[in-house]
Amino acid sequence: MSKTFEIAVFAGDGIGPEITDPTVKILRAMSDASNEYSLNFQDLPAGAAHYAATGESLPKDSMDAARQADAILLSAMGLPDVRYADGTEISPQIDLRKELTLFAGVRPVTVREGQRGPLSLPKGKEIDFVLIRESTEGLFYSQGCGEITNDEARETLLITRDISEKLFKFAFELAGNRKKAGRGPGRVTCVDKANVFRAFAFFRELFDQEALRNPDLVADHAYVDATALWMVQKPWDFDVLVTENMFGDILSDLGAGLMGGLGLAPSADIGLEHAVFQPCHGSAPDIAGHGLANPFAMILSAAMMLDWLGIKHSNEALVADGNRLREAVERVVARGKTLTRDLGGTSGTDDAAAAVQALVAMETV
Ligand code: ATP
Repeated sequence: MSKTFEIAVFAGDGIGPEITDPTVKILRAMSDASNEYSLNFQDLPAGAAHYAATGESLPKDSMDAARQADAILLSAMGLPDVRYADGTEISPQIDLRKELTLFAGVRPVTVREGQRGPLSLPKGKEIDFVLIRESTEGLFYSQGCGEITNDEARETLLITRDISEKLFKFAFELAGNRKKAGRGPGRVTCVDKANVFRAFAFFRELFDQEALRNPDLVADHAYVDATALWMVQKPWDFDVLVTENMFGDILSDLGAGLMGGLGLAPSADIGLEHAVFQPCHGSAPDIAGHGLANPFAMILSAAMMLDWLGIKHSNEALVADGNRLREAVERVVARGKTLTRDLGGTSGTDDAAAAVQALVAMETV
């Protein structure tokens, strides 16, 4: 029997609504064509423009609805001129992450043959790895609470057993699922600085314990500095990388750089129950309202959502549709005819998204 999944949608600020509309349109068409699942979308207000209008950046009703939903699809939030009274940025996506304990920041890095990027790939090699950034503690634990005196400043890095165990379990499961899908050898690399910091030795020890529970998968370690070097020299060798919050923050931008920019970089923030799917880029206010924004990172994030829902609910049709959607974007990018300006093309948002929708529709049986 077809199951209905409730999707909470935050169209957000800046280019947010422009990339959300065509993404939801594609998802609706896939849902309408499926006998195995259906998606029901609920638009929820939040963000900087909403704060400017109402004094609330993430209304309680929106938070409650997001918590009730099966998955959360979010575009981008924040505007440079709209700030809280203390001068900090409006970022309800961070509130969602904390409130729903979304500890695994999943950042896939893919570069297919024909895709433009800063590296020239050796013949027959493609880049297809996933960086998992712990997203609730690490060096971000003391965000906003660092101590500063006249002579020194201190921040505290926190690694807990509880979150690390959940994080590593998630990483090995992901590597297992990728292996099953033929997308990787089933290898998880713990990225740390265990040679210098005791906290990272603890992190690594917990990783090794989870590795023992997964004898069918390969586990290894790498120092974060060497990882940065290898991400440039041989990124095709990676499968699943798992790391602390600040290291992950830095390496995920390097990953987006490998893909040729933010316009193709999707992401997910995942916890035990809830997950938010959103592009890595921000609200791009400089191009908002002109129909120029690249919708691909948003569409790829939606593909990750279908995949996650499918695995969580053992619904193969959702997993298959997630793959179909991702592959459609990859083919449109490789073909190079309907690209937005950030990727060197001349198409607008709607034409680029329509090209993806047409490919998906063609393949619908
Ligand atoms: P944030 O702090 O929220 O990440 P930011 O201002 O640092 O925001 P973005 O909003 O991602 O970063 O914008 C950075 C640059 O990338 C801008 O020039 C923007 O126009 C461009 N950009 C971001 N997303 C897209 C997109 N989807 N399509 C085209 N250009 C984009």
